[in-house]
This record gives sequence, structure tokens and C-alpha cells, in this order.
Amino acid sequence: MTEQDINKERLELALEAAGLELWENDLVAGDVIRKPIKIFEELGYSEEETSFYVNDMFTIVHPDDIPVVKAAIDEHLSCVTAQYRCEFRLRAKSGAWVWYANYGKVMDLDGKNKGQRFIGVTFNIDDRKRKEDELELINRKLTEQNALLEDMNAMLQSLATSDSLTGVANRRKLMEMGASEVQRAMRFNQSLSLLIVDIDLFKRVNDTWGHMTGDLVICAVAEACVQCVRSNIDIVGRIGGEEFAIILPQTDYAIASRLAERLCSAVAARQIAISDSVMLSCTISIGMATLSPFCSSFKQLLIDADQALYLAKDAGRNCVRGKCL
Ligand code: GH3
Ligand code: MG
Ligand code: MG
Repeated sequence: MTEQDINKERLELALEAAGLELWENDLVAGDVIRKPIKIFEELGYSEEETSFYVNDMFTIVHPDDIPVVKAAIDEHLSCVTAQYRCEFRLRAKSGAWVWYANYGKVMDLDGKNKGQRFIGVTFNIDDRKRKEDELELINRKLTEQNALLEDMNAMLQSLATSDSLTGVANRRKLMEMGASEVQRAMRFNQSLSLLIVDIDLFKRVNDTWGHMTGDLVICAVAEACVQCVRSNIDIVGRIGGEEFAIILPQTDYAIASRLAERLCSAVAARQIAISDSVMLSCTISIGMATLSPFCSSFKQLLIDADQALYLAKDAGRNCVRGKCL
């Protein structure tokens, strides 16, 4: 055995162990010197089919991959790339698409025939490609599910903080906001007022028109409150059945009382459609309190505004009363 024979055997062994199949083209004569027969066997083709396809491989390359393979060959033959590398799908006898990779290089046969041989290897990368596809699918699903989770979290957050009937802040949220707004106002020595709004003789609305109509009236009053205040600054919350609280940051007693009067008039003037032909109206009473050296917590503001509300009810309703110091 010559050294050349031994080298040839070594090469064959290495190729087989690595799952590589060697191919070689004579670019000058246009002949396929070494054909990658095994991959055609692997794809399920007969000897006759193999000898046909091996000479015209593009017949079984996936149509989407043909331009990719051609571009990779052109780029290498025109010396843009140092090595020819591409990945493509071949159609198996069964019709399934199987992924392969080609790595190759143009080589000089000897000193004279520069760039005569195009030599390379083909190997099956189907497992890896499928795993990549699976991973991509899993990643896509994960991204979708994350977006869904974020939406659900936002929805839960809004459900946990808003009143389901009117959409304004619920009692818990209002208490939280109240405490933090009072803290902030004290820190910056700013004024802050609180209104407690209560629908007058609401029990009668329920008794006369039913609970569902009562709900419509509650919603209409909530809407009037929201429309009367500064969006993104003032906070409207439902703190009981037909009772609302409005936190008014940076608002002193005089401004708050003008706003409360305006709200009272707006509600009294409002026509609430409870059916196609029936309109209802209602009035509210408002109790007010403003931060002061004698009222320096949100809890105290609530107590003071509530006491003022009783004064408004005692005064005949549809009016504003406040605890002024
Ligand atoms: P006042 O002018 O003194 O406030 O009289 P009022 O009738 O409004 O006061 P009261 O507290 O006696 O009545 C409040 C009513 O609100 C009693 C309750 O059945 C009703 N209510 C509480 N929550 C709801 C609700 O979510 N929907 C409806 N429709 N009614 C509610
Ligand atoms: Mg009440
Ligand atoms: Mg009431």
C-alpha cells in the first residue's frame, strides 16, 4: 500500500465517521468527478434515479432554496467568499423535504490549472434544522403568551383598582391614592381638598324605578363627576353604594367649593335616559374638607368631609357644605 493509498483510506474513514459526503467538479471540463451518491440513497432514490438527479441536482432542490444555492456558488466562484457554504432542502423520494448543507472551495489542481476543481462536502442537517424550527415555534408561542399575560395583567390590575359598575377608582384604590396624595401635598406644602358626593334620596329611585335604573343613575353621577374634574390630576372613586369621593390635589378650599357647586348644578341639570321615553334627574349633596394644620391626614379629611356632608343633607340637600377653618 502506497502512502497515497493510506491517505485516501484515512480520508474515506474520516468522511464516513463525520457523516460527510465528498463531491468534486471539474470546472473546466464541466464534469462531475465525484458524485455524492449516498445522499440520494438516503433520500430513497433508486440507482437509476440517482444517476439522473446527481447530474441535475436542482430538480430536487426546494424552489425557495435554488436562488440561495446559486448565489452562494456565484459568490464563491467570483471570489467574494473564501468558502462556499449553503443550506438547502432536497426532496426525498417520499416527497418530504430534507435539509442538507454544502461546504466547498475552488482548488487548484496543480500550479498550472488555477481554480480548476470545485471540491466540497454535503451533510445532513435535518435534525438540527427541525430543532431550530421547533425552537423558533416555541419562542414565537412564548412571545405570544407573554403578550397575552401582559394584557391579562393589565386587565387584572384595572379590575383590582376600578369599580365594576362605573369604571371609576374603587374604594381600595381611592384610599391608597388619598394617602399618597396627602403625603405628597404635605411634603411640598401644597393644598389638597376632598369632596364626598352622595346622591340625594337615592333609595326612592330604587324603590320607584328598580335597582337597574338605580344603577344607571349611579353611572350618570359618576360620569358627571369625571367630567367636572381635571383628568389625570383629580381622582374620582366610588366609596359606597351611591357615594363618591373626589381627591383634588393642589386645590384650596375656595377653588374646591366652586368646583363642588358646579358639580351640584351639573348633576341637577342632567337628564338621565332610563328608557326611550323616560328621563330621570337627581341631585347630589357634597361635603368638603381641605388639608390644614388641624386636618393633616387622609383619614381626617374623610371624617371632616363626611361631617360636612351631613350638614348639606340637614340643610335640605342639593347643596355643598364644607369644614372651613
Ligand atoms: P340621602 O339623601 O339621605 O342620602 O338618602 P338616600 O336614600 O340616598 O340614602 P340611603 O343611604 O338611605 O340609601 C342609599 C341606597 O342606595 C340604599 C341602597 O339600597 C342603595 N344602593 C346601594 N348600593 C347600590 C347599588 O350598587 N345599586 C343600586 N341601584 N342601589 C344601591
Ligand atoms: Mg349614602
Ligand atoms: Mg344618598
